[in-house]
Amino acid sequence: MHAQTRYYIQPDRVFDGFEMQEGWVVVVEGNRIVSAGPGTQIKVPSQATVLRFPGCTLLPGLIEGHSHLFLYPYNITDWDTQVLKETDTYRTVRATVHARNTLMAGVTTVRDLGTEGAGYADVALKRAINEGIVPGPRMVVAGRAIVSTGSYGPKGYDDDSKIMLGAEAADGNELIRVVRDQIGKGADFIKVYADYRWGPRGEDRPSFTLDELKLINEVARSSGRYLVCHAKSKEAIRRAVMAGAETIEHGDYLDEEIAQLMKQHGVTFFPTLGAVESIQRYRGWRKGTDADPALVQQKKKSFAIVYRAGVTIGLGGDVGVYPHGENVYELELMVEYGMSAIDALRAATSVNARTLHMENEIGSIKPGMLADLVVVKGNPLKSISDLRQVRWVMKDGVVYRDEK
Ligand SMILES: [Zn+2]
Repeated sequence: MHAQTRYYIQPDRVFDGFEMQEGWVVVVEGNRIVSAGPGTQIKVPSQATVLRFPGCTLLPGLIEGHSHLFLYPYNITDWDTQVLKETDTYRTVRATVHARNTLMAGVTTVRDLGTEGAGYADVALKRAINEGIVPGPRMVVAGRAIVSTGSYGPKGYDDDSKIMLGAEAADGNELIRVVRDQIGKGADFIKVYADYRWGPRGEDRPSFTLDELKLINEVARSSGRYLVCHAKSKEAIRRAVMAGAETIEHGDYLDEEIAQLMKQHGVTFFPTLGAVESIQRYRGWRKGTDADPALVQQKKKSFAIVYRAGVTIGLGGDVGVYPHGENVYELELMVEYGMSAIDALRAATSVNARTLHMENEIGSIKPGMLADLVVVKGNPLKSISDLRQVRWVMKDGVVYRDEK
């Protein structure tokens, strides 16, 4: 047994996952937080390394609720090409860099929502990170994710050729086997595309029946895992919520009634504002100069509805559509679209921890929690963009970034 490393960390203020606490200090021993409170009350323990961060804020390591570490921005390489023309091996090499960039940005946990054609490479990346082989955030992963036959892409190729999909297709009773197979291969939860843009005019329409979603949920839940649904249309969101989904991704076309349903069922909503704005920019939109495109207007409208209704909103930007390590972009948009900075900070920490069923380990600063911590210059309660000014990152008691 060797003595555990002790840190006494003194920034100007600490965001504890719920409130901003001026003048607090935090003590870490090994990989756990052992005390947190006013600096006037907590003394420096013996043999502790003292870290002072004047002008800085200490927060729990940020938690990204909707990432795709196996994708990178579509303005560099479009989605079809990434899925069809890049090998899983190549994509995994890239993903290790995405993982490192994410951690260095102060994001110490990600929920990754599907490799989009790279099989279970996410399960392997998670293992390599846990073993300390490559630096990265702690990961909870979807694996391949599930789509209905006929709905998902890549699409539009000659019908004679067999084109691989960005997720695993299954329908009806076959879903039982596929859900169990994904669990067996390492899925921490089940991700389903409850709708997709396959309507007669290319509009988002449900891809599974309510009974199919209920079946998926029942099989996932009996293994202790939960259901996550990509859903933009009202009907798909309604079915997903009624089937027992715990989180709804995107939600572009939700209305007041659907927001109330989400609230009643206690689902967490991940708005993915960053993905929508990025794709519009890639198509030539000059934000601030040009008028908002229809999809951005729709996003602003639906975000205002859920926020007003009091639906739980987490940080989940669909990062990968925009660069890994730019996770704060989503929080900036949440604030721009009307959320208070304190709610945005909660979304990135305590709210996401609870949504991931990890609130007893991460997402807040109090004795007993894992030492996942980030220090930023400035005060993100005054300017959310200060979260970009990362000075120091600790994950599981190990310092990964130090720019004092
Ligand atoms: Zn996604």
